[in-house]
Amino acid sequence: MKSIYVTQPFLPPLDEFIPYLEEIWRTHQLSNAGPFHENLEQALCDYLGVKYISLFSNGTLALVTALQTLKITGEVITTPFSFVATTHALWWNGIKPVFVDIEPDYFNIDPTKVESLITPQTTAIMPVHVYGNPCNVQRINEIADAYGLKVIYDACHTFGVTVKGEPVLNFGDLSVMSFHATKAFNTFEGGAIVCHDPATKKRIDNLKNFGFVNETTVVTPGINAKMNEVQASMGLLQLKYIDKAIQKRKEIASNYRDCLKDITGLTFLGDMADVKHCYSYFPVLIDKDIFGKTRDDVYNVLKQNNIFPRRYFYPLISQFPTYRGLESAQPGKMPIAEKITGQVLCLPIFPDLKSADVKTICNLLISITGSI
Ligand SMILES: *Cc1c(COP(=O)(O)O)cnc(C)c1O
Repeated sequence: MKSIYVTQPFLPPLDEFIPYLEEIWRTHQLSNAGPFHENLEQALCDYLGVKYISLFSNGTLALVTALQTLKITGEVITTPFSFVATTHALWWNGIKPVFVDIEPDYFNIDPTKVESLITPQTTAIMPVHVYGNPCNVQRINEIADAYGLKVIYDACHTFGVTVKGEPVLNFGDLSVMSFHATKAFNTFEGGAIVCHDPATKKRIDNLKNFGFVNETTVVTPGINAKMNEVQASMGLLQLKYIDKAIQKRKEIASNYRDCLKDITGLTFLGDMADVKHCYSYFPVLIDKDIFGKTRDDVYNVLKQNNIFPRRYFYPLISQFPTYRGLESAQPGKMPIAEKITGQVLCLPIFPDLKSADVKTICNLLISITGSI
């Protein structure tokens, strides 16, 4: 029996990629703002509806550099319900993460709980648009304005997401994207920072290239986080398929919703009003008191049947040994996040997933609950 993983990276036809490689072999330009890099920055600005993008070798270095860009220090309020790189990026900048609880509907940071965590050391808020569902950007913006804080969104789950037609990437001071293999849009590995003015774009471009502004001048202690030409050309090719890929994801999400809607004790997220989604994940919650089995029971039965969902995000970042000593990480401080992390399971979703496979997964879930 074949294995089905939580995702399978989308790849365009290989023969369409060869001409890009031939071009790289012809020019011998492999990195350092080559022609594919420049073209992809422009193409992404157009597609995503943003003013400035700076491409990166991966999303984590883009997060680390975003914090450097705005010289964030002290304490930053962030979510425990994310991939661990969100908090690691703070640590790599010597910043103390302060975890805030999430809201129960879409699992993004709860703006009503942010203010009580602000101290004189707080300089920024770093929320995540979890699963690509936009945060309450208006409320977060109001708090940031009132307290003079910067906002850096970890937008690694979003691609092309809009709220009332407005790209979600245009909120906050900066937004950080990932183009890792497992994301809705991939360049094998890759990432980007979205910003809104040319001076910031220039600073980011300097920071990702050791701080060089020209052959002999280094203006800042930068890092090497440049996207190379093979990655950038893959991005250009992927862009041709992205609308189809997101449409396929949407159909799969709708298939799941149809099949799973009558299972008691299993819930899933609906589309948000006025939002165009990218369907990067399909999370469900298992309430063991109603469903009859725990999330981990379900996870294990699926695995025994060669289906490999992921418990994104379990454990919480604040529960990892490296962060659990922080004051804001103490048990009981974030009741919603602590509950959701024990119930959530992300089911397989990717453009090439067959509807027969969705059926198989749904039937398995039905049989698990039926067996009690
Ligand atoms: C994938 C991801 C990252 C890291 O991106 P990489 O490109 O893998 O370095 C950071 N934050 C979130 C929320 C992610 O999902």
